[in-house]
Amino acid sequence: MKASSDPEAVCVDEELDSLFYRLIEVDESIALNMIIVLIGAPGAGKGTQARLLEERRGLPQISTGDMLRAIARTETPIAKEVRAVQASGKLISDDLVIRVVQERTSREDCKGGFVLDGFPRTIVQATMLENLAFEQHQKVVAALVDVQFDLLEMRATGRRSCPVCGEIYNIHFKPPQKDNVCDLHPEAELIHRADDTPEKIKVRLATYEQQTQPLIDYYEASKRLWHLDGTREADVIYAELDKLLNQEGHQTSDGEARN
Ligand code: AMP
Repeated sequence: MKASSDPEAVCVDEELDSLFYRLIEVDESIALNMIIVLIGAPGAGKGTQARLLEERRGLPQISTGDMLRAIARTETPIAKEVRAVQASGKLISDDLVIRVVQERTSREDCKGGFVLDGFPRTIVQATMLENLAFEQHQKVVAALVDVQFDLLEMRATGRRSCPVCGEIYNIHFKPPQKDNVCDLHPEAELIHRADDTPEKIKVRLATYEQQTQPLIDYYEASKRLWHLDGTREADVIYAELDKLLNQEGHQTSDGEARN
């Protein structure tokens, strides 16, 4: 953990350290299911890896971006605020995101582990996740899908997704067979997210640099971070991730607990 002269930052560091040590004190004989945290800038390919983990390992994909977009589409009082913040490229308040994640991960399908796509994005959210993992006897591992910043803008602006199955395309790198419709759902026009424009991507990348990149140091310091070169084909990246998860050793590739 990096030394800091900011008293508030020191406090957060100490709290995170103590949570981490409580976590590793959990009896090693207890099989810990895994919470897989995918970290990466907008357009790095976290969503694609999360979908593959869900399909191939049966782990639920929990995307805070998707859940917040679903809230934004409702008629609730909070929807307008969520819409505005998402459109700006900045982050939704920790308080709201944490409530959403707590509710979703308390469901039965998360008992065997789950994949977090887009959470945590701040140190406060990471602290909440440590508490949650500790209470549920789950183990947190983090994978950084690493792509250099100059490639990200093209990736994010070219991104399109199917509103039916969520399949992710890219008009530059992985175009659909027919113009702007899903290969599997030809009736469905692909979605271009309102925050995937060059101006919004710039803000989102700056937000990532300021608020999310510190998490890399945090997971690195507690030796729970894998670096994945995100410029490769999605299947190649997945194969490496799958191997690392197998080595971690608590789960078989069909999602059943091994011990
Ligand atoms: P994503 O789909 O992960 O790129 O997220 C889209 C937008 O949703 C972000 O730019 C934020 O406005 C919001 N968002 C998603 N996840 C979080 C989070 N963990 N914390 C705060 N805001 C989030």
